[in-house]
Amino acid sequence: MIDFHCQCGTRVFFRNTQCLTCQRLLGFDSVGFTMVSLRPVSEANKTLRDDVTGKEFRYCGNYHDYNACNWLLPVTSRERFCVSCRLNKTVPDLSHSINVQRWISLESAKRHTLYSILRLGLALTPANNRNVKLEFAFLEDGRTNAEFADTFVSTGHRSGLITINLAEADAAYRERVREQLGESYRTLLGHFRHEIGHYYYELLVASTAWREPFETLFGNPDEDYSSALTQHYGSVQSNWVPDYISAYAQSHPLEDWAETWAHYLHMIDTLETAGQFEVMQLKGEAAEGRSVLNKPFAELVDTWLELSVKLNALNRSMGMRDAYPFVITDPVYAKLDFIHRVVGSSGTG
Ligand SMILES: [Zn+2]
Ligand SMILES: [Zn+2]
Ligand SMILES: [Zn+2]
Repeated sequence: MIDFHCQCGTRVFFRNTQCLTCQRLLGFDSVGFTMVSLRPVSEANKTLRDDVTGKEFRYCGNYHDYNACNWLLPVTSRERFCVSCRLNKTVPDLSHSINVQRWISLESAKRHTLYSILRLGLALTPANNRNVKLEFAFLEDGRTNAEFADTFVSTGHRSGLITINLAEADAAYRERVREQLGESYRTLLGHFRHEIGHYYYELLVASTAWREPFETLFGNPDEDYSSALTQHYGSVQSNWVPDYISAYAQSHPLEDWAETWAHYLHMIDTLETAGQFEVMQLKGEAAEGRSVLNKPFAELVDTWLELSVKLNALNRSMGMRDAYPFVITDPVYAKLDFIHRVVGSSGTG
């Protein structure tokens, strides 16, 4: 993540909506790819101006309605919602205030995920998208709402539609499931990075020349899904095999891809943050945006391994769990390198 600063020089963060030093409003311009400091111009049409560039913007509709989004639209746009919120197919019933809080957490993790995707130059909706439209559905089920007593919502992906169970935004629920499944890491950001990995498999691998090398590394993606998952959840969860980044990755070749994809994004985003905050750089250079795709993968991984060891040590000093409780073995390295090449060969979005 970029180390953003307000026009007044104060460090600001990707989620911020106002600078506490100069009181300017803040929003993320997903085209200029920066946090913009703004002053209101017109109350009537909600126009905001960046004094430095003179550019005018509006906040996304979800900022005005629920303070749920800080992304901007050019003032000339006919859209009401930003590029992130426009991907929503279903949002939960927002007449319940608990749902609003949970939904805001989901939107925040979703925007962070889309940040990485856009930063790598991947298209959200490519021209040849063969009916694979990226959409999100945030749904309740009987576990959080008695009105949906007979329903069971699984977090997952199907043909571009990413479904997330709203309960995942409840930290207590998420922790309980993490323990039940014996997982060492379960976060909202991790869910989004995993699920969007399925979408980019469809887009970048499924019907392309990458499909064959995919099969060599990950296995047959057409392997029966439901029996593979039933078998996985029926077995001992913690019997991790070193060929995979996580126990869940063993369940199916496409789950292996999605888990590995999530790790690729964890790595790229955290390396960028480390470079930006001058914690650690790739051979003296910050690993920024699409430029990391030109780097030899071995260099990225070497830096990442050193960084993740430090990150874990820092967390332990604070009495926290390891930030990156994973091991990159040779087979996992080969899969990550494959993803690095697939992303590197994709056109900019
Ligand atoms: Zn400021
Ligand atoms: Zn928005
Ligand atoms: Zn999956």
